Amino acid sequence: MKNLGLLLLLMVGPIWSQTDDKEQLKALYNTSLTQGKAYDWLNYLSNQIGGRLTGSVQAEQAVEYTKQKLDSLGLDRVWLQPVMVPKWVRGVPEFAFIESKPGITNNVPICALGGSVATPAGGIKANVIEVRGIEELEKLGRSKIEGKIVFFNRPMDPTNIKTHESYSAAVDQRSSGAKEASKYGAVGVIVRSMSLRLDDYPHTGAMNYGEIPLNNRIPAAAISTNGAELLSTTLKLNPEIKFYFKQNCRQLQDVQSYNVIGEIKGSTYPEEIIVVGGHLDSWDLGDGSHDDGAGCVQSMEVLRLLRITGYIPKRTIRVVLFMNEENGLRGGNTYAEIALNKKEKHVFALESDSGGFTPRGFSFDCQETDFAKILRWKPLFEPYLIHLFEKGESGADIGPLKNDQIVLAGLSPDSQRYFDYHHTEIDTFEHVNRRELELGAATMASLVYLFDKYGTSATNLEGGK
Ligand SMILES: [Zn+2]
Repeated sequence: MKNLGLLLLLMVGPIWSQTDDKEQLKALYNTSLTQGKAYDWLNYLSNQIGGRLTGSVQAEQAVEYTKQKLDSLGLDRVWLQPVMVPKWVRGVPEFAFIESKPGITNNVPICALGGSVATPAGGIKANVIEVRGIEELEKLGRSKIEGKIVFFNRPMDPTNIKTHESYSAAVDQRSSGAKEASKYGAVGVIVRSMSLRLDDYPHTGAMNYGEIPLNNRIPAAAISTNGAELLSTTLKLNPEIKFYFKQNCRQLQDVQSYNVIGEIKGSTYPEEIIVVGGHLDSWDLGDGSHDDGAGCVQSMEVLRLLRITGYIPKRTIRVVLFMNEENGLRGGNTYAEIALNKKEKHVFALESDSGGFTPRGFSFDCQETDFAKILRWKPLFEPYLIHLFEKGESGADIGPLKNDQIVLAGLSPDSQRYFDYHHTEIDTFEHVNRRELELGAATMASLVYLFDKYGTSATNLEGGK
């Protein structure tokens, strides 16, 4: 009997291994859905701490809280990695109106863009010139722009099913609009919010002035999509209307903050590191539940799920909660610099930073040989309706780790609702669905498990043939 068993094992070896994988994935999903902790952690992060703008008290509370939670998971090591971060503060709530005739005004919702300078204390009131994009500025020239507020009003394209593509195609207005408009003498910039729907929530987000000297910088704010529609319509009726806005945001000195890191040491190849992470900072308007509280708690959950399903990783599995993705990427850059200095060998990194929605799959940034291998795992995910395995971008925080050898990946949740909440006051806990969040964590844990077990082309390949 014993020999027969051994013979069978030799004959059907790969199938046995497939069965193991199927069972391990099932255990990860079942555990996440029945004993998951991600949602409870997110509840605390969102409702007890709140928005975690880099440099804020809440960001530091989030560092403490997540470190404490990682400490409680029985990992081999948990530590804080110091990072100096920029500190931008919004100040008192912004205020804006359209003045269609002297004394006749309509208030519209705006918010300062992250990194913007303030308006003068009394605000700015000026004529408005509406454009569809940065390239229009040159055609209009200084004579049409000088002394005015430039209103960037190119909407996100609703026809892309992958809504991030529409975001990428529109966001230059937000990130570079003020820098470019100031070159033509504009006094301020108003940008249509990066959203696919019409509502009253302005969306903040990072902008930068590039090389523009401090005293030539002009204030920039986002206007809600309904506000943008109203402004555009009013301008068509009368191009001479005025727009008023006031904001008193400020850039302060850099402050000390941290990436929060925990790891399980690899049993066979401890020097090969797998990273799973999200960013701990968020914008300040909401509580950052989708962006990116969800990615943080899912990443923490990956290590916990591997632990409590009894899996012993061969490689070192590290969770990294990066600080300052939104307005500086200092956490991601610092982590990669230190990894390089220490000559750490990172073989795989996975980021979740697209919201806590139903997972659809992953986007991989890697060599073709690795991608071909990854595609062989795809059938294992079919029972969980995970079907999207494609080449593409991974995540901002893990981007600095990129080299010829590492496989980078991003979790791809359904993106249809992401830009309803992204960077707004309604990016809040009640808009995250518990099961969707847990499915995402299990999906990430499953991929980490497979990479750990089978390696990549850069790893010791004994298990990978
Ligand atoms: Zn994010």
